[in-house]
Amino acid sequence: MRVRRVLFAAVLALARVAGLAPALIGPAVLAAGSETRPAVANDARIAGDRERTRFIADLSKKVDVHVFALGNPYRVIVDASDVSFQMPDGIGTQRRGLVTAYRYGLFAPGKARIVIDVSGPFLIDKAFVLEPRDDQPARLVVDLVPADEKTFLAKLKEAKPQAENTAAVTLPPTLVRPPDAKPVVVLDPGHGGIDRGTSSAAGITEKEVVLTFARVLKSKLNATGRYEVYLTRDDDTFLALRERVEFAQKKGAFLFLSIHADYFPQEIDKTTGATVYTLSEEASDEEARALAAKENFSDALAGIELPSDSDEVLANILIDLAQRETQNRSVVFARAIVGELATRGALHTKRLRSAGFRVLKAPDIPSVLLELGFLSNPDDEKLLTSEAWRDRTAEAVTKSIDAYFAKRLARSPY
Ligand SMILES: [Zn+2]
Repeated sequence: MRVRRVLFAAVLALARVAGLAPALIGPAVLAAGSETRPAVANDARIAGDRERTRFIADLSKKVDVHVFALGNPYRVIVDASDVSFQMPDGIGTQRRGLVTAYRYGLFAPGKARIVIDVSGPFLIDKAFVLEPRDDQPARLVVDLVPADEKTFLAKLKEAKPQAENTAAVTLPPTLVRPPDAKPVVVLDPGHGGIDRGTSSAAGITEKEVVLTFARVLKSKLNATGRYEVYLTRDDDTFLALRERVEFAQKKGAFLFLSIHADYFPQEIDKTTGATVYTLSEEASDEEARALAAKENFSDALAGIELPSDSDEVLANILIDLAQRETQNRSVVFARAIVGELATRGALHTKRLRSAGFRVLKAPDIPSVLLELGFLSNPDDEKLLTSEAWRDRTAEAVTKSIDAYFAKRLARSPY
């Protein structure tokens, strides 16, 4: 089964122009100037109103871009190779005209992406990149105009599927490993690249916090000599949820731990500590349901078309639930983490929570999602960015992984 793609493309083949804009790049950079240096996007803004909304990004030089639309939710995607971002802090939250927000970052190695959220059905009226001129830098311009749903969908249908956006739902079989091999543990730092995850008021991002923690945890697990440990990402690159699951399956993982940090602005002072989640068809509670929706939105944020609930997410979760053994093991592992963290008073709740997290749905790999703490809470933020806390918490998670495998070894071989 293939996920139905709905997208259309306004492909713009624009000549690459070498040379940097002197107004934007200092003399030192110019002196070292190389024509192969990636373009830098260093500012962006929205202009216009609901009748015509214009997105503009300033670039250090002209680049080729590929601009297309996606539905459900309404988005414009701008792809370019070799663009790095040095945007002002806090940019992208301005609502104006048809645009509700935008974000940018690395989508894949060497591939940059801007995702513009749009409030309703629309058409890309124009999309082009201007040469630098006089005191103006090179600029990417995307003009959006409102449309009715029917016109929007008709345009989407005209589009040819994009290879990089086509998601095959079938997952590869898990690698079979020799019986004497060390168990493989896959750690999955959430988000990355264009998807920053949540962030604190001071601008600490979830994607950084979880990557740093995952690296520390990996080295602790390696130090035991008992496991083979992999990270789904070890840099600031975006990975789709499906790719994370596939990575674990290709590595023949015995255990999969997705690592995140939460944000709960309603009760900033009270909401602290870690929470442990497993996969379930029905969410254990409203907070878990909302969190799964937020985490599952990662692909949409990065401009990947989401499968509709009816044809993919639910069907797969139901299949997964048939894998009771995997589910039971996931719960055993989740309890082990809760047990370890509880002794350190580091938990938000001792209760195991569950919901339809797409990243946990490998049918044959016990999988747990750990929210390390709340970036909305200033005390948690301090902890999440402290080396001592990372060390303690990674130690606790290592112990819980030891406990999990000790239990499994006592009962049966892997
Ligand atoms: Zn997250």
